[in-house]
Amino acid sequence: MRKLSAEYIYTGKKILKKGIIEFDEKGKILSVIDTEGKLNEQESLEFYNGVIVPGFVNAHCHLELSHMKGMIDNLSGKGLPGFIDEIISKRNFPDDLEKQISKADKEMYRNGIVAVGDISNTDDSFSIKQKSSIYYQTFVEAFTISEEKAEETFLTAKENFEKLKMRKLSASIVPHAAYSVPDALYKMIAKFENETPKIISVHNQETASEDELINKRKGVLAEVLDNKGFIFEDFLYPGNSALQVNLNYSNKKNNILLIHNTFSKKEDIDYAENFSENMYWVFCPLSNLYIEKKLPDLPMFFNKNLKTCIGTDSYASNTELSILSEMKVITENFPDIPFERIIRSATLNGAKALKIDDKFGSIEPGKTPGINLITSFDFKKMTLKSESKVKVLL
Ligand SMILES: [Zn+2]
Repeated sequence: MRKLSAEYIYTGKKILKKGIIEFDEKGKILSVIDTEGKLNEQESLEFYNGVIVPGFVNAHCHLELSHMKGMIDNLSGKGLPGFIDEIISKRNFPDDLEKQISKADKEMYRNGIVAVGDISNTDDSFSIKQKSSIYYQTFVEAFTISEEKAEETFLTAKENFEKLKMRKLSASIVPHAAYSVPDALYKMIAKFENETPKIISVHNQETASEDELINKRKGVLAEVLDNKGFIFEDFLYPGNSALQVNLNYSNKKNNILLIHNTFSKKEDIDYAENFSENMYWVFCPLSNLYIEKKLPDLPMFFNKNLKTCIGTDSYASNTELSILSEMKVITENFPDIPFERIIRSATLNGAKALKIDDKFGSIEPGKTPGINLITSFDFKKMTLKSESKVKVLL
């Protein structure tokens, strides 16, 4: 039997000083023992100087963009509209795409990530996901420029959804963002969601001009989309903000993951939380800094005790796929947010969002959540340091 202990164990629900975790041969947790800080020498006990935490859940990624590292490197203040412009023109499908995807999948595993909520517009990542040691929930994402293209777009999404089902991979069909889904397509997705209640993910209020587009059909984002041939008459935008548009066709019973929320206001939070109890607020701080050079008002979300989650986004807007690095950016920019809240966002909340908390997200008997060790931890302040590292123990 393997037994692990460390200075601290964060179980997902509480912190144990020098606790002990016992595992069976298959790595399933048998028991979690609170020693109240008094650890006697024991046979076959592995003790680590650091903090043991559950495996990380990356609530937002685009694995199929793994070949785009550094390709969009100069947005010169154009933010998300500039990014959308660049990604449409620069996205290519190189011969070694699968190799790049596999490399990213392995990197995430090494970085202690055990489960990923991953966006797919194509089937490029499916075979890697099937072989991976990581659990994937795939969000087959749909968007298009006009009502005329809605049916074709939805059929492609449905084909990809069926391909994932054939591989026995968990999947749902989701809208990309409020501004890129004509109402006809929203209705098709909503009908499909309602037939099979699922987990929904949608990009939300990532840039300031998103709400401007919804309200006035003007602004930088509107201009970029207009140049890309978007037929605005086909977009009703029912609501006063992108968030309201996103929820308009959503089923309250679904888990809804709102991604980014960089420009969400207090009213948006209240609106969403009133709409459903199943709202998950996903933050990808490094990607926000890469694209918009701005972070969401994270204390506003964390202080309200909302179900906050963390994602890496993709290599198109990040230089690494590491949940630890995302946690460090949060800590550095908002030192008042306690480590406990941040680590819960990186583990248990993400597992609940993806409906896999029976297995992942916390250190409890019967689970196989993956076990990470965080070293170079600041024990005085009980927080991460810039030199903190993660090591996969199990
Ligand atoms: Zn994204």
